[in-house]
Amino acid sequence: MYSYKHEPFTNFSLEDNQQAFKKALELVNSQLGKEYPLTIGGKKITTESKITSYNPANKEEIVGVVSKASKEIAEEAMQAALTAFESWKNVEPATRANVLFRAANIMRRRKHEFSAYLVKEAGKPWKEADADTAEAIDFLEFYARQMNQLSAGVPVQSRDGEFNQYNYIPLGVGVIISPFNFPLAIMAGTTVAAIVAGNSVLLKPANNTPVVAAKFVELMEEAGLPEGVLNFVPGSGAEIGDYLVDHPKTRFVSFTGSREVGCRIYERAAKVQPGQIWLKRVIAEMGGKDTVVVDKDADLELAATSIVYSAFGFSGQKCSAGSRAVIHEDVYDVVLEKAVALTKTLSLGNPEDVNTYMGPVIDKAAYDKIMSYIAVGKEEGRIAAGGNGDDSKGYFIEPTIVADVKEKDRLMQEEIFGPVVAFCKARDFDHMMTIANNTDYGLTGALISNNRAHIERARKEFHVGNLYFNRTCTGAIVGYQPFGGFNMSGTDSKAGGPDYLVLHMQAKTTSEMF
Ligand code: GLU
Repeated sequence: MYSYKHEPFTNFSLEDNQQAFKKALELVNSQLGKEYPLTIGGKKITTESKITSYNPANKEEIVGVVSKASKEIAEEAMQAALTAFESWKNVEPATRANVLFRAANIMRRRKHEFSAYLVKEAGKPWKEADADTAEAIDFLEFYARQMNQLSAGVPVQSRDGEFNQYNYIPLGVGVIISPFNFPLAIMAGTTVAAIVAGNSVLLKPANNTPVVAAKFVELMEEAGLPEGVLNFVPGSGAEIGDYLVDHPKTRFVSFTGSREVGCRIYERAAKVQPGQIWLKRVIAEMGGKDTVVVDKDADLELAATSIVYSAFGFSGQKCSAGSRAVIHEDVYDVVLEKAVALTKTLSLGNPEDVNTYMGPVIDKAAYDKIMSYIAVGKEEGRIAAGGNGDDSKGYFIEPTIVADVKEKDRLMQEEIFGPVVAFCKARDFDHMMTIANNTDYGLTGALISNNRAHIERARKEFHVGNLYFNRTCTGAIVGYQPFGGFNMSGTDSKAGGPDYLVLHMQAKTTSEMF
């Protein structure tokens, strides 16, 4: 087995790659409007009630129609998962890992097809879609290898005549609730981490992006995953989300999404239900209000590009997005000017076009929320770039810079999850660090600086789970930059990191006397 290396990104400046991607888009266009069933215990179930998935760039276009689980169906899925767990937990870890290796290879062969679904269903530009698919492949490859390493257990000491062992065993049935913004990577990553560790799961994908999840479920079946290990139950959060989180047989919940929903899950999962004989675990990856800090002594060109690309990649719909720029007052005007000039060159439009830098935001609710924050921005600061939206065809919002915002303003404190970045002036490095740490969150951050002492200070003082120097604060790579945050950003469960699988397992000590 070759050692782990992240999946390379596709170079779309090459004509062959462009052609291959266009063909994948044609394939997906030919499958628009298809129906997708639920999968429970290996059975395909079609329900009356459905979730319709629309293209956010063209709201008339239906990407697919997915069956929707009710409470009764969720209960059936729970029973199927409980049954499957009894055998899956005894399958050799290496055999479980092999299913993931096979799945990674199938996905690699159909890479552009999956990415084309991301273009259609999530409105991702090609490059962002390609990175999402690459990351899904990375999770499969990385967690499979991690499982192979972990299966030997961890060495502990033994005295004479004694043999002690320390091994990780699976937990049980997990509920996976995944977000729209990495509808393939995070959905697949959270699912397969649980599965390869020997658990069975109920997957409830985001309601905006269920089609790509249905495609992934088919892929896992093709890769040889036994029936009942992965049950596919799209549905409403209020109805089946709560039901499954509360269920006494749920052993753990792996959630990625908003702070509001994450806190709700954490609280509900803490309540021990009648018949429940364990304390549920919760893995929660929530929001961010991430900062790119620009020092006085910095490469100002790099500062501007880092701010702009951290803010506007996938229309800022990343919890890692750099939605605040905190800049030393001596270089503030120059960096702002450069960032505005660069922002004005970014193309906003149909993500199916190879030249589009930024597509739409995900839906009407997101559009309205982001536009209302832009209105707040006009009060708190001034619009230096963008500021307009158009939701006549899809949900398009210009990349927007709000300048001269104060450190405690709403634009500096609240997660917007859209293409809006607030610029704030700082007096000196102490002030920069104070502002950088002044939110409820602690996910990512970047410092652009050539001052070694400041870099070392930030390493200690900048309180975020993922801190980057002289680059963007987005784009963590599986196995290279394990990803997860502090404070209200979540449980700091580092996806793509060395400790991640263990969160889905429990350690058992055995001690034998000879
Ligand atoms: N892992 C992604 C990144 O580093 C962000 C994930 C998210 O937004 O949920 O940019």
